[in-house]
Amino acid sequence: MFIAKFKDGTVISLVDDWRLDELKELRKKRQFYCPACRATVQLKLGTARLWHFAHQPHVACVESSENESLYHLKGKKLLYQWLKSQQVEVALECYLPIIRQRPDLLFRFNHTLYALEYQCSPIETTLLEKRTQGYNQIGIIPIWILGGNRLKRYGPHTFTLKSYEWLCTQTSKNHFFHLTYFCPEQNRFAQLHQITPYSSTKFLAFYHETPLLKTSINSIVQPNIHTKSKMFEKWIIVRKNWRYKNSSPYPAKMERTIREILYKNGVPPSLFPIETGWPTAYHYLISSSPYYWQLLLLFECLQHQPLNRPFSRQIVTQCLFPYIEKRWLMLRQTSEPWTKAIDGFLHFLTRIGYLEKVESNQGMFKRIRNPMIPTNVEEAMQLDQSIKLRS
Ligand SMILES: [Zn+2]
Repeated sequence: MFIAKFKDGTVISLVDDWRLDELKELRKKRQFYCPACRATVQLKLGTARLWHFAHQPHVACVESSENESLYHLKGKKLLYQWLKSQQVEVALECYLPIIRQRPDLLFRFNHTLYALEYQCSPIETTLLEKRTQGYNQIGIIPIWILGGNRLKRYGPHTFTLKSYEWLCTQTSKNHFFHLTYFCPEQNRFAQLHQITPYSSTKFLAFYHETPLLKTSINSIVQPNIHTKSKMFEKWIIVRKNWRYKNSSPYPAKMERTIREILYKNGVPPSLFPIETGWPTAYHYLISSSPYYWQLLLLFECLQHQPLNRPFSRQIVTQCLFPYIEKRWLMLRQTSEPWTKAIDGFLHFLTRIGYLEKVESNQGMFKRIRNPMIPTNVEEAMQLDQSIKLRS
């Protein structure tokens, strides 16, 4: 950390213009204290790392992100200077006693207070959620920026995210997910836009980077889509891969179950129904691939409903319970109920004319046709193209 206090409460910030000999002198004469836990801290003046304060090894600080790497310190300093250079009111490592948290940066922009957490190392999802809630509680909007060293890219539009990284995403008004990275070595922001998971760890997204000094605060506070490209086209490629995927000789339980269901229904895996495997509204609440759970619902529940006979959404939800209980299907860690994913899927099936809503009775649907099973992969891909995801 860059901030400590003297015994009398005066703050000392290492981001200010100190000379090495001045600090060495101070270190001889004065004691430094942690603003959060008030334990004494050491002033580190090595050449390999940026000058900083550190707790004694055995001290467990209430709210410290100790073992700050050089990467983290450097990034925090650059972000601080970047905000300052834009005349933004910003405080470094400001301790908030009410919630016992100390964001890396606290700043005010357009009459709103933001806590910027610069996260370069893995963090427990529960701790991350606790901190996010803490800020929300006192009306501060948290912004999690990941270290550029966390970015894992597999293809031009394919990325992997750990569960804590997913919790660092921001949502824009149009319900797209965005994630911001900052690399202090390249002095650049990178952003992922329209992040769309297609399995528990793999995500489609559009990548965009800007040099620090050419980045507006707005684009970090309220990320927006920079590209006109459509996620739909990328998703079609994911479906194509599912259709051409060779079956593994040692399939996982869910994969095996799906193969059995398809076999039972006389459908070759490459010709799975057009109605399933889509990023429908809230699909991300179930972290397992929509290819699995949508196929499961179609064949194990919806197709069992006689044509034109009303059924409730509850029985659709119940169909997934056993799989979730056995943890064959995984849920994403979030405060939103996963059943919203079911509603999103039912809504989608209604729009493409497989289901119909029962007007007189909310939460009731009826099936009005059979699924589209293509006869060959070419036809499958043409039919995939004909689907509209958002009305
Ligand atoms: Zn402390």
